[in-house]
Amino acid sequence: MNKAYKFRIYPNADQEILLSKTFGCVRFVYNKMLAERKEIYEQFKDDKDELKKHKLPTPAKYKSEFEWLREVDSLALANAQINLQKAYTNFFRDKKVGFPQFKSKHKSRDSYTTNNQSGNIRIENKHIKLPKLGFVRIKLHRQLPSDGIIKSCTISRTPTKKYYISILVEYESKLQTKVLDPYNSIGLDMDMKNLYTDSQGVRAEYPRYYRAMQSKLAKEQRKLSRCQKGSNNRTKQRLKVATLHEKVANQRKDFLHKLSNQITNDYDIVCIEDLNMRAMGQCLNLGKSVSDNSWGMFTTFLSYKLEDQGKLLVKVGKWFASSKTCNECGSINQDLKLSDRVWICKNCGCVIDRDYNAAKNIKEEGVRLLTVA
Ligand SMILES: [Zn+2]
Repeated sequence: MNKAYKFRIYPNADQEILLSKTFGCVRFVYNKMLAERKEIYEQFKDDKDELKKHKLPTPAKYKSEFEWLREVDSLALANAQINLQKAYTNFFRDKKVGFPQFKSKHKSRDSYTTNNQSGNIRIENKHIKLPKLGFVRIKLHRQLPSDGIIKSCTISRTPTKKYYISILVEYESKLQTKVLDPYNSIGLDMDMKNLYTDSQGVRAEYPRYYRAMQSKLAKEQRKLSRCQKGSNNRTKQRLKVATLHEKVANQRKDFLHKLSNQITNDYDIVCIEDLNMRAMGQCLNLGKSVSDNSWGMFTTFLSYKLEDQGKLLVKVGKWFASSKTCNECGSINQDLKLSDRVWICKNCGCVIDRDYNAAKNIKEEGVRLLTVA
């Protein structure tokens, strides 16, 4: 099994310079290769066989002409080639994806990927050894699996000049054949405002500090939109907004990790609805709550955490009428509107919070699917 672990790193001044160079070189080589690729494509796009004969250029090709490329990690450049190849193949598989784009200094993310070859990447004494850079201080806020093997690392820099490393580790999954207790299960009904309501009737609520930070961010964003283009104030304000953005994103991630840990520890089976987030965001115009994709991130966390413990995430079909079915008597109300917050059953007369009713249905349907299978 492969899993990525992200940590903050603290390069020293020399390392920062080399990192800057590496980000630049990776972008440079990527754009060079792309320009060549583009030219060949334009020339032979109507002749597929001829086009196939032209392979993607390799970074080595530029090293004699641009000596300074030798200063940086050559694997970073090799990975730029692999990334471009991927983007190019994607374009051929689905033209809607569009031709790969040039990387711009301002809009593209500063990052590069390097690989572990015979132990040239390793963690020692609160430092991580990286090719060309040597030992960089790392904040290990969590343990890597003890039997894990580091496959590759992606080093990135945020607009506020913070450095992170994402370490891809391969390890033996301890998938125990755990006996799952269907009574130890929970259903989660996705909720626009509070992430979800569970089958005990409890809503997951974002912490208050998170909400406060969000409105602060919105305020600063409005301020930014009023700043004059190209002005000093705008540059300053942009940095302020970027800093807040990072804070909000980190807080959110932190909260989602804690919540998914808690659920994973407490339950054997977690049932959710199988939702297509992008389609939902578009057709219902549900706005920010869906588009910030907290739910997507949350279910990703849940999925791997449950798997790690030999537990289960069950997705209930999206056509299952979780909201429109009475959990008490099973009768269906097709006329239920999005604005109806309380479920009032016309058949049995029960009155219950709409999301609570839905979550109970999702749980029961999930457990049913398991016992059928
Ligand atoms: Zn009923």
